[in-house]
Amino acid sequence: MKKNIAVLKGDGIGPEIVDQAILVLDTVGKKFGHEFTYSYVDIGGCSIDKYGVPITDEGMAICKASDSVLLGAVGGPKWDNVDPSIRPEKALLAVRKELGLFANLRPTKLFPQLADASPLKENIVGNGIDLMIVRELTGGIYFGARRTTIENGEKTATDEMTYSEHEIERIGRVAFESARKRGKKIASVDKANVLDSSRLWRAVMHKLSEEYPYVEYSDILVDNTAMQLVKNPGQFDVIVTENMFGDILSDEASMLTGSIGMMPSASLSSGTLGMYEPIHGSAPDIAGMDIANPIGTIMSVAMMLRFSFDMMEEADAIENAVNKALDDGYRTADIWKDRFKKVGCKEMGAIIASDL
Ligand code: NAD
Repeated sequence: MKKNIAVLKGDGIGPEIVDQAILVLDTVGKKFGHEFTYSYVDIGGCSIDKYGVPITDEGMAICKASDSVLLGAVGGPKWDNVDPSIRPEKALLAVRKELGLFANLRPTKLFPQLADASPLKENIVGNGIDLMIVRELTGGIYFGARRTTIENGEKTATDEMTYSEHEIERIGRVAFESARKRGKKIASVDKANVLDSSRLWRAVMHKLSEEYPYVEYSDILVDNTAMQLVKNPGQFDVIVTENMFGDILSDEASMLTGSIGMMPSASLSSGTLGMYEPIHGSAPDIAGMDIANPIGTIMSVAMMLRFSFDMMEEADAIENAVNKALDDGYRTADIWKDRFKKVGCKEMGAIIASDL
């Protein structure tokens, strides 16, 4: 197969970690007889410096025309005070919107080799954590109308949260399909005891659940979910939720695994085009030092192969190579303990590629 990938390395550690993911992709391509080609696009601060905008129209067109998008990370202190209309994250929202990326999938897995890196006690994570958060990405309060008004000298700010049935149904379908391929269990998170948008969410999910009788369905309130994630994370398989709840819960869940550097994500459209990126930011504190953990980005390309290119065996091969590198005791600084072999970003990429 031939696939063209738009590569958006971004800022900070973005270029370092993406280079290792490309090394792994090229190695997979050679092993399985695929040809991956790359179109490089500036995004975030580096694009602001060159073009005055966080992504150019040409860059966006390249993303749209590609088979898939690989992103490092954007931002850094240098661009913290630029005009809000051209902030680095604006480019991320624009790409999500232009490409119709409405579903964000974050697998949260505690690698058994890293069990002692979790902030939770052994008796809680002993059985492992392996859950998938499916977050709605293009609706809800982040995209609703907002305004600040002044009356009698006092300011009042309003943000609207809106969901329509088709938006809920399409994210629900992604989640049920994901549950079907995993542990066949789904928890739909809402705040239906208070919010109208959540009551509609729940009604649509209930209707959808009738189409998937073999998937065990439950409703759970968002506040209870936040508690259950630290009390008994092993109870969850797939969690589906709206944009803001998902933003918060997915960060909470990722911390249970000990290192933000390990976690991949996928943002999917209704077609096969998707954007794949590690969940962390540009880590300016360690940029250019060759100590960043590239595994989150490498696991993101495994998701790309699985979700956009239907290359299951190839995706498994990457995940197995990551496991082997960890089994063999290789650790980047963020997950290192003194009985292990400390390696840099490049060396970790090379080890995983050679294990393929
Ligand atoms: P961050 O995720 O960049 O870093 C948080 C901490 O985790 C830092 O100590 C960092 O060194 C460490 N870390 C992150 N990734 C790592 C990796 N792969 N290996 C080892 N350690 C790693 O979050 P932050 O410091 O809050 O944000 C830095 C910049 O990134 C900001 O400008 C922020 O806006 C931006 N950001 C971008 C994205 C994105 O591009 N999707 C997401 C979040 C934050």
